[in-house]
Parts: sequence; structure tokens; C-alpha cells
Amino acid sequence: MAALAIENVKKSFGDTQVLKGIDIDIKDGEFLILVGPSGCGKSTLMNAIAGLEEVTSGDIRIGERVVTGLQPKDRDIAMVFQSYALYPSMTVRDNIAFGLEIRKVPRAEREQEVQRVAELLQISHLLDRKPSQLSGGQRQRVAMGRALARRPKIYLFDEPLSNLDAKLRVEMRTEIKKLHQRLGTTIVYVTHDQIEAMTLADRIAVMKDGIVQQFGTPREIYENPVNMFVAGFMGSPA
Ligand code: ADP
Ligand code: MG
Repeated sequence: MAALAIENVKKSFGDTQVLKGIDIDIKDGEFLILVGPSGCGKSTLMNAIAGLEEVTSGDIRIGERVVTGLQPKDRDIAMVFQSYALYPSMTVRDNIAFGLEIRKVPRAEREQEVQRVAELLQISHLLDRKPSQLSGGQRQRVAMGRALARRPKIYLFDEPLSNLDAKLRVEMRTEIKKLHQRLGTTIVYVTHDQIEAMTLADRIAVMKDGIVQQFGTPREIYENPVNMFVAGFMGSPA
């Protein structure tokens, strides 16, 4: 059974149809990359999966549950955005623990979880700092830590590295890959960076104009692009 299934999802803003019937199924533990040019509907799809945008039609299933009409908090999903949106007045520790606190996880358990996540992301030495005292890369780790602390079924990452410089991006990419291998979680990850897609993905969905053009392993897509767009966009040999 799919961990996450997107079934004929359509989304319009006014007269403009942004998602034109998306079908994707993601296996348990799979690292799925959603790739495509700016404006093709990647974030709209992620927001729909997270429940931040209502779909116009179609369904979203997580495991056996249809979650299409549910509030974000009832979907068992954690999302990391391009902008980190940390709480500036809170310490790193409190930022990471915040989601647990709202769900009334007891203090001792919260602290244990913060330690686990901080160790995983190598930010244990930063727990007492405020976001303003961190570098871009460190803030990005804290944002990831906040998602990891919640242990949801599915992680959604929407261009989480696009605000980082090239060197850090490569470094973080490697770490995300390691995290995935270690935790075995299901991840949907958006990027417009083809190299990132090729190195991270178990499978890739290549989108253009609100339609999935091709869905397959990096190798399938590289070796057998279905059309000129995919070939050009993914840099396949002609
Ligand atoms: P991507 O993440 O692939 O760059 P988006 O999903 O952000 O693309 O946007 C897809 C299209 O939908 C764009 O043309 C964008 O202008 C439009 N769009 C996104 N959100 C809204 C909104 N809230 N209202 C109207 N149009 C929107
Ligand atoms: Mg986007």
C-alpha cells in the first residue's frame, strides 16, 4: 500500500487551473522528488498535501486514510519550507520542542526528543541560542529539527536548501540523504535543482504546467525521457 497517494488532484485559483490532474503514489520509506520549473505548481501541490490549500477536486490519502478534508494538524505530516520561519524570541531548544508542547507532550519527554534530534543534526551545542545568533545553515538545521521532533508519517520539504550558498547546499544534501537512510522515513522533497533530484531521489516526478510529465527512477528518467521537455530539463543525452 502507498504511504501517500495523490489521486487526480486538481486545483484552480479563480479561472486559472494550476494543478491539472496529478496522480502520484509514494511508497513507505520512499524519497520522492518533485522537480520542475518555477511556477509549474510544486508548492501548490505540497500545500495541498499538507492541507494548507484545499484541492478543487481529487483525493489525498495517507496510508489507508483519506485526508482530503482534514486540517493540517490531523494529517500526520511535518513540513519544512524554503523560509525557515523560526520563532525569533525562542531559543533553539524551544523552537524544536514547540510542536511537542502544543500536543502536551510532558516536559521530560520533550527534552529527550530535543536531545535526540539535536544530536542527529549536530546542533546540540546551539540549543540555548536564539535564531538571530545562528548562520543560515544552522537555522535550516533547526527548522529540520522542528519537523523531525514530531515524528510524523510523512515529511514535506519545499526547496529547503534554496536559500543556502552552493557549498552548504551540497553539504546539507548529503546530510539529508544520510538522515533518510538512518530514519527510513517517507519524504516528498521539492527542488528545481536537477542535480539535487538525481542524487537524492528514489523516484522523481517531473512536473510542467500543472501536469506530471514523467514519474520514475532517476535512471529511467535520465535514460528514457518521455519527451523533449523532460530530456531538456533533466539534462538527458539527446
Ligand atoms: P512552484 O512552486 O512550482 O514554483 P507554485 O505552486 O508556487 O509553483 O505556483 C503555481 C502557479 O500558481 C503560479 O502561476 C502561481 O502564480 C499560482 N499561484 C500559487 N498560489 C496562488 C494563490 N494563492 N493565488 C493565485 N495564484 C496562485
Ligand atoms: Mg515553490
